[in-house]
Amino acid sequence: VLFNYGKQADLNAFISRTPAPQDGKAPAEADVQARDPKKALISKHSRLLAVKDNIATANLPTTCGSGILQDHQSPFEATVTERLWHAGASIVGKTNLDEFGMGSHSTNSFFGPVRHDSFDERSVGGSSGGSAVAVAVQQCKVALGTDTGGSVRLPAAYTGVVGFKPSYGLIPRWGVVPYANSLDTVGILSAKVKNLFVLLQNAKGHDPRDPTSITDATWQRIKEGRKRSAIQSGRHGPFNKNIQNLKIGVPIEYNISELDPGIRQAWKNALKLFQEKGCTVVPVSLPNTKHALSAYYVIAPAEAASNLSKYDGVRYGTRSDSSDSAVDVLYSKTRGEGFGDEVKRRILLGSYTLSSEAIDNYFIKAQKVRRLVQRDFDRVFSLPNLLRPSEQFDLSDMDESVELDNKLGPSQVDFIVCPTAPTPPPTLDDISKQTPVDTYMNDVFTVPASLAGLPAISIPFPIPEEHQRPNTPAYAGIQIIGQYSDDHRLLETARLLE
Ligand code: GLN
Repeated sequence: VLFNYGKQADLNAFISRTPAPQDGKAPAEADVQARDPKKALISKHSRLLAVKDNIATANLPTTCGSGILQDHQSPFEATVTERLWHAGASIVGKTNLDEFGMGSHSTNSFFGPVRHDSFDERSVGGSSGGSAVAVAVQQCKVALGTDTGGSVRLPAAYTGVVGFKPSYGLIPRWGVVPYANSLDTVGILSAKVKNLFVLLQNAKGHDPRDPTSITDATWQRIKEGRKRSAIQSGRHGPFNKNIQNLKIGVPIEYNISELDPGIRQAWKNALKLFQEKGCTVVPVSLPNTKHALSAYYVIAPAEAASNLSKYDGVRYGTRSDSSDSAVDVLYSKTRGEGFGDEVKRRILLGSYTLSSEAIDNYFIKAQKVRRLVQRDFDRVFSLPNLLRPSEQFDLSDMDESVELDNKLGPSQVDFIVCPTAPTPPPTLDDISKQTPVDTYMNDVFTVPASLAGLPAISIPFPIPEEHQRPNTPAYAGIQIIGQYSDDHRLLETARLLE
């Protein structure tokens, strides 16, 4: 039942909600009537939209799940929510998250952790855990999240919903509070893939206020490149729905020993289903995957440390009421009181890896690994990366410490299929005993696509009965990764698993 906040209130999925109107109508209906009906492109079914609380909205506060922004009211609306509002969506509320998007379990929030609807003691995933739970308990039809290193896909996998991270730059980020700008994307969660098309259609497209949003001219160039490549290869037409004769790649490096047996079996069954639907399944090698997680946890905190310096109680943020007037004391009290532990850890880490004595060994090296991860993907996809047309091999990449492994020749695949997370959702008790680095392990399968800016989706898929465990979800998140700009075909392909 929509807007029955009873049981759902305990789950702590929302930080603020749109109040129900007095006339007894559902808020969405009243709201949509106030708009031009011709513009109501989003059908009644997907109208109710929950929005992660790091996306600015003019009607509800935007806290980023942080003490430092606990009362923050944005004076403007993000491009993405404005576009969806014009298309007929109604915001039902702002959802809880790990502070500034930093976390994998939605437990790092100033407003308290998000709770799983069916597995009380387990993680909902993060950082868009509030959005995933809001979809899972039907408090909305679709929800917006942000995905920097897996924050839409991981909570989708843990709560049994669909989570989609589009190609980087496709949905504008203007009004989305930055965590790591070179990785941040706006993602969409829903119970079914079919609800995502209309949302993506209305949210995407250039916004001059976001310098990383893909321009119309670039998009045109990509479209023409796709046409050429389709003629040459007889495959993947220009943004069409052609998903016949798909070739699916299985990355052999993802079959790690830490992989839960139930999840491995679900992965195998998903691949079998693709075969039954006429796809060819082949092994591919993404040798630099093993370095992706470390590179991510250098790059993301470095960008975060830089972004978060503006929260000093003067430019932004709830100012400490310390009576000491010295500015440096005010800064450190404000930041010390306002930020949670994980955010502080990342600021320290990022400030260190950007410092003059460490930058070459950490930040610069991580950027090189990022290029190698991107190249791994470009080598296995049949569609060329039309945003980064094949560069000359940069010999400086043959650094002693960065292994180059090109043993496996090119396998021209349309999509890569792997699990979203190596294990089922851990219990909150397990998490409380983990070191921060153990927690980062949950992102091992999601960060490669983030580093490469590629579209990826997590689909819930059943774990066979003999592998199910008590008080553990009977589904696993299966992830499909596509080449840059292949978002539409990715969604069509994902439907084959539903
Ligand atoms: N868990 C990852 C992190 O903490 C991903 C977060 C995200 O995608 N926002 O950085």
